[in-house]
Amino acid sequence: MQEKGTISIHTENIFPIIKKFLYSDHEIFLRELVSNAVDASQKMQRLASIGEFKGELPEQKVTVKVDKKAKTITVSDNGIGMTADEIKKYINQIAFSGATDFIEKYKEKGDERQIIGMFGLGFYSAFMVAKKVKIVTKSYQEGAEAAQWTCDGSTEFEISPSKRKTVGTDVVLYIDKDNEEFLEDHKVTQILNKYCKFLPVPVVFGTKEETVKEGEKEKKVKKDNVINDTIPLWTKTPTDLKDEDYLNFYRELYPMAEDPLFWIHLNVDYPFNLTGILYFPKIKNEFEANRNKIQLYSKQVFITDDVKDIVPEFLILLHGVIDSPDIPLNVSRSYLQSDSNVKKINNHITKKVADKLGELFKKDREVYEQKWESLSIFVKYGMMTEDKFYEKAEKFLLLESTEGKKYTIEEFKEAVKDNQTDKNGQLVYLYTTELEKQHSYIENAKNKGYVVLKMDGMIDSHFINSVEMKLEKATWKRVDADIADNLVEKDEKKESVLSKDDQDAVKKIFEESISQTPSQITVDALSPDEMPVVITMNEFMRRMKDMQASGGGGMAMFGDMPDNYNVVINGNHALIGKILKAESEDQKKALAKEAFELALLSQGMLSGAALTEFVKRSVQLITEEK
Ligand code: ADP
Repeated sequence: MQEKGTISIHTENIFPIIKKFLYSDHEIFLRELVSNAVDASQKMQRLASIGEFKGELPEQKVTVKVDKKAKTITVSDNGIGMTADEIKKYINQIAFSGATDFIEKYKEKGDERQIIGMFGLGFYSAFMVAKKVKIVTKSYQEGAEAAQWTCDGSTEFEISPSKRKTVGTDVVLYIDKDNEEFLEDHKVTQILNKYCKFLPVPVVFGTKEETVKEGEKEKKVKKDNVINDTIPLWTKTPTDLKDEDYLNFYRELYPMAEDPLFWIHLNVDYPFNLTGILYFPKIKNEFEANRNKIQLYSKQVFITDDVKDIVPEFLILLHGVIDSPDIPLNVSRSYLQSDSNVKKINNHITKKVADKLGELFKKDREVYEQKWESLSIFVKYGMMTEDKFYEKAEKFLLLESTEGKKYTIEEFKEAVKDNQTDKNGQLVYLYTTELEKQHSYIENAKNKGYVVLKMDGMIDSHFINSVEMKLEKATWKRVDADIADNLVEKDEKKESVLSKDDQDAVKKIFEESISQTPSQITVDALSPDEMPVVITMNEFMRRMKDMQASGGGGMAMFGDMPDNYNVVINGNHALIGKILKAESEDQKKALAKEAFELALLSQGMLSGAALTEFVKRSVQLITEEK
């Protein structure tokens, strides 16, 4: 007896809508059908194990076949199957109302998973590529009659008895003209590899030849080509695994990548379910680092490699897999962030990563220091963005000096507290952002016995702003923020060789001979060994300018900030005495200008026409010299 009916949905033409709006992700039809087949197989295994299914359990596998002539793709399983009633119940009733409204609402957001997952449209995704779909199925239940269902993509379907003898289901897709690319073996292989590589039931596509020995003779036999690893590493017990297992799995996931530094095996089942392996990659260049993304699975089905809202932001550079059925996949991204399971997963991963780093640091400081170059970006970014992480990372953050020595915050404080505490009791963290450019300042600071930290990484300037606020009684100063004597302000009186009148006179000469206007000119009593003129940049003003340059938001109130620098004249330098004693005003000014431009030069601030002129004049000067 054949029966006809109408699929109960409130819109007459959902399939054209599905086809149109899910365009970008057509290939997921295969994931949906293979997942359904895997579910049916697993249910069968469970029924057999609890004695609900009495017969002999057939080998559970899912087979994908392509018939190029008939233009069909068939997904077969030996799972629990369906009765005609079950088909009507599960397949025919797409139980939702206002489908059109819903799809209209979400089509713009381009989140296909949302539409498909929300209303159990998994099976119907077949209509993204097929003009007709046929199900031939027989339920495991005793005496069940096999049934056949066909639907041509309209809301009409046909259901009739079938002669099928074996328990299980075949889903046959009659591929439409626009989607014939899916009939290509390589395309099917590619899709299966992407979504089905770690499914828990063997998935077979095609055959492969294998040589077997029969007594003395070797024989070639055709075997099922199983495309998946049914027990992927992350589902195994960590204590059973060796380092080599983790490394091999990494190489399988990312064949082109260098071996990772270390990894974390996640394994939680309460209060949420989460398994996975996260690897710390070797990071050489921060721009490139994002290529091998973390893959998100749900019960071993690949979902996406866009895990932005699931993994804490600072860990986005990690590699590996996470698998959790507790991450809602059918909701909008903004909802995802506020989901309590996602929050818990976030916190759990953060804690695990902090614990792992802490453990590594404690266990083998030397190895940890060797890996620091790659680790620092995680640690610093984590400290900036997650308070919980900061609390732990404070103990294993490393600060590297220009001499290559690495300190924890505590060690650094201990090492410099006597020499680098200023008159207000603030510990001064001196740093450089460019070793070459700030060389003379670094040397001067070192001569005073100061330790200068290397902060030349991509996120270091942001890190400094953030850590300075969290550390107590601490202030960070770049080495060129002031003359070496004033970097760490002390209550010492400096002896100047110049009288007050001379100081005023020298200041006036400089004011008149300097073309670019600095914010401030001062005369100070530096050591006679230091430069006659030193240029410094106020720490606060410079940071504002840096932030503006790196596009920091909300900086508009500062307008377009000019270079902001101070000129310090070293009253104790012999050249200043010479300027004061020079015969003519012109000579005085020429010498002052020269001294000033030498200072600009050492700060890398002399360029263009000013530099050309400076070089010319210097050549002239040495030529004229007697
Ligand atoms: P979902 O898988 O999200 O429930 P689907 O539309 O993909 O939604 O499938 C609807 C239902 O149809 C399934 O829950 C299952 O009961 C049934 N079904 C689909 N495919 C199979 C299959 N291969 N074997 C047995 N039952 C199936």
